[in-house]
Amino acid sequence: MFCKHCCKKTDEKNRFCGFCGKSLTDEEEVIFFFGPFGVSVCNGRYAIFTWKLNNITRFELTGKGIKAITKSLFVSGKDFNFEVPYKDIISIEKYSTPIPLGLREILGIKFKEGENVREVSICSSSGNIRRAYELLQNNSKTI
Ligand SMILES: [Zn+2]
Repeated sequence: MFCKHCCKKTDEKNRFCGFCGKSLTDEEEVIFFFGPFGVSVCNGRYAIFTWKLNNITRFELTGKGIKAITKSLFVSGKDFNFEVPYKDIISIEKYSTPIPLGLREILGIKFKEGENVREVSICSSSGNIRRAYELLQNNSKTI
């Protein structure tokens, strides 16, 4: 197949073009997701006493960017939700939980939101966090 961004021939098994690094999938296509079960989200850096939403947030990585979608009858997720195109991501970081919580890790993401910089943390199983981190790193090569 040919990359729709730079028109070079690329391997169709890849998610991202080996030449220009852009996504080879449809922009809104979900490449990877996890949650809502086993996912905690908080604003700012993950710490023991920060307010978190547990088990109601789905994290998605699409061809265009990342999303957190919270669905609950009891909690308004709007303060925790985000939808960030890859170009607005400033940094990503993977770190351990403050107290050992089994095989769980945290993905810390800083991104531009209007004029501001916002930091969010997502905690899930190490497998989920590592995969998301790897995919984000691949995509942020173009940033
Ligand atoms: Zn390309």
